[in-house]
Amino acid sequence: MIKSICVFCGSSMGAKTAYSAAAHDLGVELVHHNIALVYGGSSIGLMGLVADSVMKHDGKAIGIIPHTLAQREIEHTGLTELHVVDTMHQRKEMMATHSDAFVAMPGGVGTFEELFEVLSWAQLGIHNKPILLLNIEGYFDALINLIDHGVQEGFIRAEDADLVRVASTVDEVIPMLQASPRQDFRPKYMDLGKT
Ligand code: AMP
Repeated sequence: MIKSICVFCGSSMGAKTAYSAAAHDLGVELVHHNIALVYGGSSIGLMGLVADSVMKHDGKAIGIIPHTLAQREIEHTGLTELHVVDTMHQRKEMMATHSDAFVAMPGGVGTFEELFEVLSWAQLGIHNKPILLLNIEGYFDALINLIDHGVQEGFIRAEDADLVRVASTVDEVIPMLQASPRQDFRPKYMDLGKT
């Protein structure tokens, strides 16, 4: 049973309003399902929006931020819990251990790094928590294609690539995370030229 979800997403808002709308809606969806948000503890960008939405709807949000980033990312002071840790590694480890599943929303390098870390841990069998990309407006199409390229070129096992579930709307997120593994969770070999 999923009681808490770790959300990785941008410390920026991104260029499209669809990204911020999805961040808000994901917060509402978590509260509806009585699922706690675990995230990086920032008050800015999509990170701040998801947390604001959870708190506004009387949900539970747990933020984990390293003290070096607490000011730069402007720590969120209105959370259910805010943990200030020493290092980025402690932050990511704590986010992982406090959650039952991982969702990556649109974001930048930090989001990519966090996603790939939990994916690499899953392929090593360090955890077996579900991982999902919330592919708003096709933001992650190129990244999904890169993973498939890795499979085609013999660097990523197909079963490891299949660890990544892909949702294109917020409504799909929780049902897809609750579904058992070994389903066809993502479109294969998307042709970016067709969209
Ligand atoms: P971004 O997606 O780059 O906006 O960053 C989203 C979150 O990831 C922020 O909380 C950043 O602190 C964090 N982050 C940024 N760079 C890294 C990194 N190299 N490793 C882990 N997390 C990072």
